Amino acid sequence: MRSMTLNANNPNIPSLIVRGGFIATVNSRRDVLKNSAVVITNREITEIGDFEKIYQKFPGVSVIGTPTSVVTPGYINAHQHLTGDRFLRSAIPDTISSNDAIFKWVVPLHELLTATDDHLSATAGLVEALSNGVTFTVEAGTVAHPHEVARAFVDVGARGTVGRWGWDIGQGPQVGPASVVLERQKQLLEDFRSKISDNLVTAWVTLVGHDLMSDDLLTTASQLARDYQTHLTFHIAPHDEDVKSYLARTGKRPINHFHDLGVLGDHVLLAHAVHIDETEANLIIETGTAVVSCPWAYLRLAQGITGFGRHADLMRRNARIALGCDSENAGDAIDMIRTASLFTGLTRDGERDFAITSAHDALDLLTIRGAQAIGMDHLIGSIEVGKLADIVIHSTDGPQWTPISPDPVLQLLWASDGRSVSDVVVNGRHVVRDGSSLMVNESELRAEVTARAQFFLTNSNRV
Ligand SMILES: [Zn+2]
Repeated sequence: MRSMTLNANNPNIPSLIVRGGFIATVNSRRDVLKNSAVVITNREITEIGDFEKIYQKFPGVSVIGTPTSVVTPGYINAHQHLTGDRFLRSAIPDTISSNDAIFKWVVPLHELLTATDDHLSATAGLVEALSNGVTFTVEAGTVAHPHEVARAFVDVGARGTVGRWGWDIGQGPQVGPASVVLERQKQLLEDFRSKISDNLVTAWVTLVGHDLMSDDLLTTASQLARDYQTHLTFHIAPHDEDVKSYLARTGKRPINHFHDLGVLGDHVLLAHAVHIDETEANLIIETGTAVVSCPWAYLRLAQGITGFGRHADLMRRNARIALGCDSENAGDAIDMIRTASLFTGLTRDGERDFAITSAHDALDLLTIRGAQAIGMDHLIGSIEVGKLADIVIHSTDGPQWTPISPDPVLQLLWASDGRSVSDVVVNGRHVVRDGSSLMVNESELRAEVTARAQFFLTNSNRV
């Protein structure tokens, strides 16, 4: 492995070469390349080809990866809470309801969080994400200090979106009248118009969702996202309580109601949509609305995906689907390979169809399909010339890779998890080396998070 960089200041000379014995490009032909290399110039992929030829063509350029590395595009986590839960990780009992976990543990904690805490927890979450190959994270929106979360993205070198906590029904942090909540959302979009941080972070409109948003807030938020050519995401129907609530208030199931309000479309990413019926599935597909599935959360919180979920049906019908890990007290591990293998198993078993989702389909969901669902596939989601260089290198030195399969994608999904990730490149920058962040001091970070977690466990006003 060479480590010398001769050309850091020349914008036209490659800055980095990624080498792999096996490169799953996830391009339109789904090319799988052997003994190849990806050339990166600043932020972009500028050439892909035979490793030896590239090595000779660009002497002196740093090389990461080995002849046995498995290389993929960066993984997309389309639903992740980056504030709060980290401080209660594995501390909330798993024998209480998700409602009690949220409203008796997580929400009281949020009332104590400072801007510094939001930065700290987001940094810890994103370091974990990157170490498992997650290069893009959609923050789920329960954030009081989005600029601090955006700063965490930049500090660790990850790409993603942030939004501001938005709800106008009930009691809790950040609740306000619809007009006030909307104005906060608009202000964030304005802030990010002029302050895009190294091209890494963009702003979305984010509502809590469920039955904690008025029709007025939802319709104006959807229009705001359209006006700013960005996206709207919110939670709906991970459990059937949301369905009962909408039926009682509107006489309609949630997705039917949203459709009648005119809020659905390709700018919307629904978090969950587990408890939907066939008509609602049809509306999601017809309107091009995207869904993010967080299967570990549904199992951990006993929400009924195996009995009622329609994500396998959406998969079969080629809906816009991404995967997510949710929070540290729902999906828990921020590991998209683990999430993808579970989703793949659930869809196969749910439809009793071994062909509905393959390991290669799972890799698509983690990369190009995830990028399509969040409207970013023109920039990321595959290893192709002209795309931004978000790339994951997996080591095959571990026992889970012995022997290496002729089809390493099968092995990556079914035999491995994020612990195989050795190196990560985001936006052309080498941000994880040998499993550790090159951007932040992980031992200091661990000590800070542990100290704050101890404080919150002692002082939080949980019921
Ligand atoms: Zn969530």
